[in-house]
Amino acid sequence: MSRTHDQAALPRLWQGALRELSGVLSAETLRQWFGVIVPLGLDGDEIRLGVSDEFFANWLETHYGDLLCDALARAAGRPVQPRYEPGHGVDEPPEMPAMAAVPPPTVSGKTLPANCRSRCTFENFVVGPENRFAHAAAMGMVRKSSIGVNTNPLFIYGGNGLGKTHLLQAVVHEAVRLRADAVVEYVTCEEFVSLYVDALKKQRHAAFRQRFRRADYLLIDDVQFLAKTKQLQEEFFNTFNSLHNTDKKILLTSDKRPSEIDGLEARLVGRFDSGLTVEIIPLGMETRLAILRKKQEEHLMKFDDEVLYFIADNISSDVRRLEGALTRLITYCSLSGAAATVATTREILSSYLEQEMTARITMEAIQKRVADHFDLRVADLTGSRRPKNIAVPRMIAMYLCRRLTSHSTTEIGSAFGGRNHATVIHACNRIGAERGVAEHVDRSLGLLERQLQQR
Ligand code: ADP
Ligand code: MG
Repeated sequence: MSRTHDQAALPRLWQGALRELSGVLSAETLRQWFGVIVPLGLDGDEIRLGVSDEFFANWLETHYGDLLCDALARAAGRPVQPRYEPGHGVDEPPEMPAMAAVPPPTVSGKTLPANCRSRCTFENFVVGPENRFAHAAAMGMVRKSSIGVNTNPLFIYGGNGLGKTHLLQAVVHEAVRLRADAVVEYVTCEEFVSLYVDALKKQRHAAFRQRFRRADYLLIDDVQFLAKTKQLQEEFFNTFNSLHNTDKKILLTSDKRPSEIDGLEARLVGRFDSGLTVEIIPLGMETRLAILRKKQEEHLMKFDDEVLYFIADNISSDVRRLEGALTRLITYCSLSGAAATVATTREILSSYLEQEMTARITMEAIQKRVADHFDLRVADLTGSRRPKNIAVPRMIAMYLCRRLTSHSTTEIGSAFGGRNHATVIHACNRIGAERGVAEHVDRSLGLLERQLQQR
């Protein structure tokens, strides 16, 4: 991969990404987590980011990895992967975020919360059968509810990039638009946690309480993270009750339904489920196409239908990725002046298509393939028996899960009958060492990888 020679490209990209992030994160979060990162270099499609240590890198990756990739892609007009380099960050965040303060977006003169993206409105939300109910319920929360059932709290859940945050922010826009003096508290769960911890440290607990209890609307994004802290759940429970009792509106989003959030107290599950719980399911072909059509209009572009069809067909239902792919294509076409055909699109989006392939390979598929290959049952691989004829296939399956999926060693361990991550690491090292040395292992691996990638 070629090293870029444009000296200004790195700071420009980093500033651009921070600017993008400032649209979705509070100034404090930005300062705390991104102010301490030192951009070190730009190598092709990879940006090297200096961070203090491994722990910080992991935390950042788990909590803000997607957001950061998204921001980098927007700033660069192409996908750019962050690579963290521990031992190079600064320890103390600077007083101000590293970029010039960006004025918060406004709706006809009224100020929106700074973490709200101006384009995330109801008007810009494409409705399809998969999200229609969630859309109607969110709209009903601010406009006069037409559903006629108890919709408070509204709990929207579903997979990554299906528009939960978009809908939540659309409610913020609409609430502020309809009533300038509405008190709207919108925070991500992470922000809620860090505000709470901060309040405890500074002994400003009462101010924290008051802030959230005087809200007309309380909107919390990604509440699955609440489950991490017991004390916070208690605090949140009280806030929730106080708002709910006075009929204030509450909207929560999560990646799972309340009862499936690991570690969430039963009483909170009960509260979250006491209003309306709506799922957004993965978007089908028609809705994906409609989204691409709308986005190309926003960019004043017009691609052939078959090109849009190709993208919608090949990129999964994560709308973030759909948008990223389209942005990349638009950038390419406007730089080169060439019109996109299906063939050029395939080429330009090749890295996206490869990633899709990886995303489609599941651990179940790997276990099934490996079991078939060695004439075993999947239950043999995931069971506790450890005769020799099973041990090697099991290690191969673990190794393939590590290589071909993005699951952590802990997740892989639990998919193999609750083994711990050290077992998985051992298996990966062992098979990795035999690769290219032991012929029978090599042959099996080559064949299995090919079969899995062709699916
Ligand atoms: P989630 O919070 O569910 O992970 P987001 O709301 O952040 O997903 O959506 C990811 C991106 O896709 C955002 O840029 C959002 O504006 C866009 N998006 C998602 N669903 C739709 C939709 N139905 N119509 C238009 N844009 C959408
Ligand atoms: Mg979200």
